[in-house]
Amino acid sequence: MIVQNMHKPWFNKPTPLNKNAHIAIIGGGIGGISLLHHLNAAGYRTTLIEQKSKILSAASGNPAALLEPFVSASKTIEKSFYLQAYLYARDFYKSLGPNVINICDLIKISKNKTEVTRFEKIAENYPKDIVYLKNNNLIFPDCGLVLPQEMKKSIKQTDSLIMDVEINRLEQTENGKWLLFGSNGNLIINADAVFLTNAYNIENISQTEHIKLDQVTGQITYLETEYSGDNILCSDGYLTPPVKTDFGMANICGATFEKNSTLEITEDAHKENIKNVPFNFNNPVILGGRRAIRAMSKDHLPLLVRRLFMMLI
Ligand SMILES: Cc1cc2nc3c(=O)[nH]c(=O)nc-3n(C[C@H](O)[C@H](O)[C@H](O)COP(=O)(O)OP(=O)(O)OC[C@H]3O[C@@H](n4cnc5c(N)ncnc54)[C@H](O)[C@@H]3O)c2cc1C
Repeated sequence: MIVQNMHKPWFNKPTPLNKNAHIAIIGGGIGGISLLHHLNAAGYRTTLIEQKSKILSAASGNPAALLEPFVSASKTIEKSFYLQAYLYARDFYKSLGPNVINICDLIKISKNKTEVTRFEKIAENYPKDIVYLKNNNLIFPDCGLVLPQEMKKSIKQTDSLIMDVEINRLEQTENGKWLLFGSNGNLIINADAVFLTNAYNIENISQTEHIKLDQVTGQITYLETEYSGDNILCSDGYLTPPVKTDFGMANICGATFEKNSTLEITEDAHKENIKNVPFNFNNPVILGGRRAIRAMSKDHLPLLVRRLFMMLI
């Protein structure tokens, strides 16, 4: 689509990188892995650096994540942005193979009349293949559960990964190269461009220390399978179909949003998760759980910082 009379960008367009450019990605979560995949497909040389001994082990380490569009009852620019982002993400996960995403419906169950009115407005605002109303509930067809651990298989043997290294200093040389230093002060690599996909740790790098992200801890709960349906059930919380976890097959429910950085599993969070699930359990048996910290921008939108790239999903 050609947009007429569009204003010129307010920033100077950076010179495009040439195809032989070497790009460093700091952080091996779902953001870093997705970026690695895209940059490799575009023909760049890439190196991903992760501070832990395993990739996909921080916020992206859950056994399953809901792929759910953010929907709105009004016609705002955010509506178009989130819809495009959702469709792109769904196609991307599908392109990684059938094991990466379990396609199913997501059913958002209404709690009261006010919510039904809002749901009606939302349904009117979207095509039926995105969302529709049925029995006062919103149905999102062709949504799904993303299984992040399966994304590891999309990493090729030839991909350059540096593990157990925390990058905490970047320096740019006069010819524009970026030097990446580890926590012991050693130079780890140099690169033509750097992407920061290291979530809330961007604050520890001087060039991005001004970007303030909230740290919001979340806990999910694994329950002995009582719900054997194929679809995701949502209201204030969600319940997944049975999923493979470290405790065997389980329904997963969650997730809490807590303003703390405690990584110890709490009973209160389990109770809250079970309470918020739109399903009448006979006898919910808790098998375990997992906690991690999300990084959130104030307006929940992704960040892009010129010259140095920051990606937040
Ligand atoms: C309990 C819970 C449930 C959630 N459920 C859902 C859901 O259902 N659907 C959904 O879409 N989202 C969900 N989210 C949010 C989602 O998990 C995050 O948005 C996503 O995982 C963020 O990915 P990321 O790659 O940006 O960050 P992370 O996965 O946190 O990855 C950042 C990586 O950077 C590494 N790192 C940090 N600093 C450095 C450094 N200096 N040097 C090298 N490496 C570094 C870290 O070790 C980490 O591996 C949930 C989050 C939580 C906590």
